[in-house]
Amino acid sequence: MKKDKIKYFLRSGLHFFSPVVCPNCNSRNATKIDQKYLVTRLFRCDYCSLQFRHPLDSQKFNNSFYQDEYRQDDGITTDLPKPEELKEMIETDFTSSPKNVGTFVKIFNSIVSDVKDIKMVDYGSSWGYMSYQFRKRGMLIQSFEISKPRANYGNKNLNLDIKSNPEDLKPGNDIFFSSHVIEHVPSIPDMINISRRLLDTEGYFVAECPNGSQGFRKRDPIGFNKAWGLVHPSYLSEDFYQWLFKENPYLILTSPYDLNLIRGWDQLSQVTHKTDGDQLLVIARPNTRLKSL
Ligand SMILES: [Zn+2]
Repeated sequence: MKKDKIKYFLRSGLHFFSPVVCPNCNSRNATKIDQKYLVTRLFRCDYCSLQFRHPLDSQKFNNSFYQDEYRQDDGITTDLPKPEELKEMIETDFTSSPKNVGTFVKIFNSIVSDVKDIKMVDYGSSWGYMSYQFRKRGMLIQSFEISKPRANYGNKNLNLDIKSNPEDLKPGNDIFFSSHVIEHVPSIPDMINISRRLLDTEGYFVAECPNGSQGFRKRDPIGFNKAWGLVHPSYLSEDFYQWLFKENPYLILTSPYDLNLIRGWDQLSQVTHKTDGDQLLVIARPNTRLKSL
């Protein structure tokens, strides 16, 4: 077992009896829905439906963890490539990379007619492998990454302008995009407020994350159990997003993405499609009120 995992279980054991409080709405009413290795449990908030790991990390721990310790073993998210590896990625336009943005560009093109000249925030950009590709496709990108070493790498090697403080991002954007970020952040309300400040009144909040919906759990119970834990303190589901954007238009769907469902959405109503894939995608308009409200 790796050192950071051992530390995680020790920390979890020490805080096993700490109160169970929803990190989204502060409710103390939550139901246990899953458990791992005795000391870590997954709760579901009875009020807002957020599924969260207990014990939770402190904000201080979270900040220092994502500066240096955070590792994903996919060879790109948290690994800073060597010069020759980066050169290869750029020369092949990230074609063979798991972080190729082709699918996301198709998704954006299904919401707006053409991504060219669209203003977008890449929130939680790591070292900028996606920001770089989006910019190449003509999008006007601002990037944010909490880890300074990763931000510095992208700024230096990809000529990006990745900020490490969300205050430095400018408003007036069409899309606030995040991929595998919302399940890591210590405060989802903070992230939503940042998106509201940065988006135009018509703008779109687009986020992909591991799918914690019951439909996915039913289809793949082992995959469901695997996807929450040390690096995923929150495990978002369709009903949490329905709560989060209850006053706004939204579209909720699952991988593999059917672009016809996105094109078919009127962008004014609340639509949830089947959510049994391993990824959950939400497209919401946080600054647009529902017509009926
Ligand atoms: Zn809650």
